Amino acid sequence: MGHCEMCGKETALVAALIEGSKLKVCEKCAKFGKIIKDFPRQQQPVKQKTPQLPTKEFSIKPDYAERIRQKCEALNIKQEDLAKMLAEKESLIHKLESGSFQPSLQLAKKIEKILGIVLIEEVLIEAEQHEQTQKSGALTIGDMLKVRK
Ligand SMILES: [Zn+2]
Repeated sequence: MGHCEMCGKETALVAALIEGSKLKVCEKCAKFGKIIKDFPRQQQPVKQKTPQLPTKEFSIKPDYAERIRQKCEALNIKQEDLAKMLAEKESLIHKLESGSFQPSLQLAKKIEKILGIVLIEEVLIEAEQHEQTQKSGALTIGDMLKVRK
């Protein structure tokens, strides 16, 4: 808020180039010149809606089973060995390698470390979808705005 340098009206101001000089003016007066940039509108209420920006999310690569199986074969690691290394049941490793069980991000990270492979990929998720699919406990942009206020 401030006083328009042209008409003196107290309102939200914009910076505009009018007849060669940079002035802070109201939006009406700004039309006489060229708007340089909008000043932040302090008086505007904070919108409740999550910004429509895509958010980065991590997900398991769809070919995780193949990646695990191939790497285990290459390193000559048996299912029971991998089970021990991960402190998981052998039956779970079997399910992982056959693709019938998708690992959690936590488990996938462990496997990535042990086998030296990549199982997790970053995907961009639209903000609206993100709210529904959020599982990882990571902060969304909406959450960060809530924290920041
Ligand atoms: Zn004005």
